[in-house]
Amino acid sequence: MLQVEPLICNPFAQNTFIVFDGESRSAFAVDAGMYEESERLAFDRFLRQRELKLQFLINTHLHLDHVFGNRFVSETYGVPVYYHQADEFLLPQMKEQGELFGIPIGDIHRCPQSDAAFTGEKTVGFAGREIRLIPVPGHSPGSVLVWLPEETLCFSGDLLFRGGVGRTDLPGGNTAQLKESLRKLKETVPSETRILPGHGLNTTIGNEKKYNPFFI
Ligand SMILES: [Zn+2]
Ligand SMILES: [Zn+2]
Repeated sequence: MLQVEPLICNPFAQNTFIVFDGESRSAFAVDAGMYEESERLAFDRFLRQRELKLQFLINTHLHLDHVFGNRFVSETYGVPVYYHQADEFLLPQMKEQGELFGIPIGDIHRCPQSDAAFTGEKTVGFAGREIRLIPVPGHSPGSVLVWLPEETLCFSGDLLFRGGVGRTDLPGGNTAQLKESLRKLKETVPSETRILPGHGLNTTIGNEKKYNPFFI
């Protein structure tokens, strides 16, 4: 079974995840919220201490709190950054997004123009498993689920939280699409699946079906 290390980053308390395979010592990251130097160091220290080799980064979407560390990851580890093309319009707006929230971004917003942008669904292999990237627009046009069916594990980004769902009042947000994406999540991902959201505590699909008023 793969292991997951959460790092809570930046003023938005964003969950950055390092997923790793103890046998092959390979790892990938889900989002890169590292804003402070101490957060970048913590990310790097974890990989070094466990002797893990980072293979790639997947962005669940391109809001600023999920991409502060993109450039650091790309430059430090030389790995591809996967994200859905429908969120690409957000990259040149990072500085303005930062000003909107009173967070100076400096040149941290210069995310690499990655060749790993994709459209539609994408499957990525990792340590003999399948990672399915499934478009779930609504919170942002290019939001995706990062689903590992064999691990009964799903990173929901800012689509689904424990007891809540993502806001739709940010650039490109769409409430009707969000509802449709929640329906897709409910129908596609089995109830026993662990959900690791972009903010807050972990949950399961089954738990949210029972207790989340936006997901019933
Ligand atoms: Zn977001
Ligand atoms: Zn977020």
